[in-house]
Amino acid sequence: MTPRILLVNPPIYDFTAYDFWLKPYGMLSAAGKLRGSADFKLLDYMDRLHPFAARQKHLESDRWNRGRFHCQKIPNPKPLESIPRYFRRFGLPRDIFKDFLTEEEPFDFVFIQTTMTYWYKGVWEVIEDIRKVSPKAKIILGGNYVTLCRNHAEQSGADFLVPGNNLEPLWEYLKINPDPDQPALWEVYEKPSAGVLKLTEGCPFKCTYCSVPMVYSRFKPRPLEHSLAELELLYSLGVENIAFYDDALLFDADKVLIPFLNEVVNRSIKVNFHSPNALNARFITEELAELMVRAGFKTFYLGFESASQQWQKRTGSKVFSDELAKAVKHLISAGAKPANITAYQILGHPHIETQQLETSMHFVNSLGIRGMLADFSPIPGTPDGDYCKKWVDMDEPLMHNKTAFPIILLGFDETNRLKDLQTKLNHSLSDSRIY
Ligand code: SF4
Repeated sequence: MTPRILLVNPPIYDFTAYDFWLKPYGMLSAAGKLRGSADFKLLDYMDRLHPFAARQKHLESDRWNRGRFHCQKIPNPKPLESIPRYFRRFGLPRDIFKDFLTEEEPFDFVFIQTTMTYWYKGVWEVIEDIRKVSPKAKIILGGNYVTLCRNHAEQSGADFLVPGNNLEPLWEYLKINPDPDQPALWEVYEKPSAGVLKLTEGCPFKCTYCSVPMVYSRFKPRPLEHSLAELELLYSLGVENIAFYDDALLFDADKVLIPFLNEVVNRSIKVNFHSPNALNARFITEELAELMVRAGFKTFYLGFESASQQWQKRTGSKVFSDELAKAVKHLISAGAKPANITAYQILGHPHIETQQLETSMHFVNSLGIRGMLADFSPIPGTPDGDYCKKWVDMDEPLMHNKTAFPIILLGFDETNRLKDLQTKLNHSLSDSRIY
């Protein structure tokens, strides 16, 4: 008999959450390889086009299909009690899943996507509900929580964990032969609100605050034909906005991104591309900027973090200030709107004393682009994450929370002051002539 597999993207428990083209791409990719060998159903708690979410007027999307999630305030969990912000459960109400399960069960297997380690409460909630309604289903967890906090995830009640990106143990557990050439299972959505592509895996850099070097042993491009098949599938489903989830999209661009974008242009595929995972400004040449704009890139998020050379060298030398300035110049000359170019800077990094954050914020502002403070999340197993044991219990994943850590490190008032400064700097741009 064909096995029935339920795919679940769980709710998020956090202080903040926003749909920045958030899709359970890892789970959809694994499911895609089983296309034709299993029957699938999806419950994506974070789907803003689900009939329940679509009825909520305040959840309307912006022009690039980003937007707010349905949420409800709940008490702060004990380890985060001292953080003076409202804690929330984001995503579809719990009852929707229970009704869905009762109607759709039985399932042989349930795949649950995990993302941030500190979102585990949503994963545990889903497991609890499945156990009540569909006790025989085998529950399988994959993703970052399982990879980075394996011991903790073992207490979740799941039957099988898939840490890292080697899926061989999963295929053996399921006793199904995968087809590695198949694209992600996007058709499991009635209509995806946005799509995701990943042309590469891993990153050649080793930044001291980042999990990517631990998760992927090396940088590896995916076959071009595979990426194009995923793009064609998304395009046929009417998806207009596509986010790249690559960690090093621009590395080896001659062999990866450039051939891909040339095909996009040749095939006259009209979509809006976005780069929420941050682009490395070092690799943005005049020619690449021109091709990216021509092929449909609309928003450009650049990973900058700090203008301090001392900090840049200490954390991995991924990019320097002059490289950011040059990249911005190329993007604007190619036709990118300054308002759609954003440089991320880490807020609450444990070596903030050398980061010169305010100087960095002013430097980004002087380039005429938006700055965005990316709250620092200490990631277990990374050099910077392990250093944070000085301040937080790293064995409790809730303490990796990105809203909490800057407040713990810098204090509530200083964190707010820096965030207000960023808002003011961005407003100063919208008042100026280039906007
Ligand atoms: S360049 Fe980006 S993805 Fe690569 S290690 Fe550094 S922060 Fe991580």
